[in-house]
Amino acid sequence: IRSIAFIGLGNMGAPMAGNLVKAGFAVTGFDVAPAARDHARERGVRIADTIGSAVDGADAVITMLPNSALVLEVWTRLAAIVRPGTLVIDSSTIDVEGARAAHGLLPGCITIDAPVSGGTSGAEAGTLSFMLGGDAAAIEAARPVLEPMAGRIIPCGSAGAGQAAKLCNNMLLGISMIGAAEAFVLGEKLGLDHQALFDVLSTSSGQCWSVNTYCPVPGPVPASPANRDYAPGFASALMLKDLRLASQAATDCTASTPLGAHARRLYEDFVGSGQGHRDFSAIIAFLREDHSVQTV
Ligand code: NAD
Repeated sequence: IRSIAFIGLGNMGAPMAGNLVKAGFAVTGFDVAPAARDHARERGVRIADTIGSAVDGADAVITMLPNSALVLEVWTRLAAIVRPGTLVIDSSTIDVEGARAAHGLLPGCITIDAPVSGGTSGAEAGTLSFMLGGDAAAIEAARPVLEPMAGRIIPCGSAGAGQAAKLCNNMLLGISMIGAAEAFVLGEKLGLDHQALFDVLSTSSGQCWSVNTYCPVPGPVPASPANRDYAPGFASALMLKDLRLASQAATDCTASTPLGAHARRLYEDFVGSGQGHRDFSAIIAFLREDHSVQTV
């Protein structure tokens, strides 16, 4: 595989595509947003005017899009234009049924659902965790393409299994970010300094990614969105999308996820108050107010 088409060059897609360029692949990208196209161009990605010209002659196609409907729309379009045998990878976070349906749209291609974890910092550094769903041969075919973007590549099972693992991960992430934010809000009320509390939490049994790597208060972790007025990062609207997907999956398979459901309600209220564009760690501002009590 030498040439890769990358569809969706947003907060995640642009740096991921940039790492493929650094690894020596010829990467042609497409995005509907001019700003996203500019960011990707700065990273050495050749920009196409249409999906059709982006995938023309590509050995592999990667999609990194906001939601299930867009992934299915783009994959339907791909079905009409890619060569049989092309490797097609979706790294967006979507529902398990949508992922399975996407595989079914391209029966002549090698298809993988490969959602990621690690945030924009992991996308920049090429250290994302990839969770793969697909058959064994497809997973092996995808490895060399994923490696320049990956810290870990974890096969999870057949078509849709990567998305299933991702939904479990992001439900836990939503819950843990609310937990980290609550701990800092309580600490503030108790008169604790942010740095002192961070030093304790990040080295004690409260440590987790939401504290150690993505701390929701400014100061302790310079790269965290709290230091740039909560510009994403990972937008709250996307976290709400994932918590809804997890709630739906839990309902469908009758799993009991009470904290996942509560986290979804808090993000619904936060996004409903007009904050969906802000990073998901900005939920701390919401928790400083009284809203949380009303949603119990
Ligand atoms: P984003 O909104 O920054 O990027 C999505 C891009 O897709 C946008 O630039 C948009 O213009 C483009 N797009 C929309 N419709 C299109 C179309 N028809 N054709 C081409 N481009 C189109 O979102 P993101 O943060 O990069 O996230 C992308 C996906 O990855 C989401 O599913 C998200 O849940 C998931 N994800 C995000 C993070 C994160 O930290 N941001 C982490 C892991 C997974």
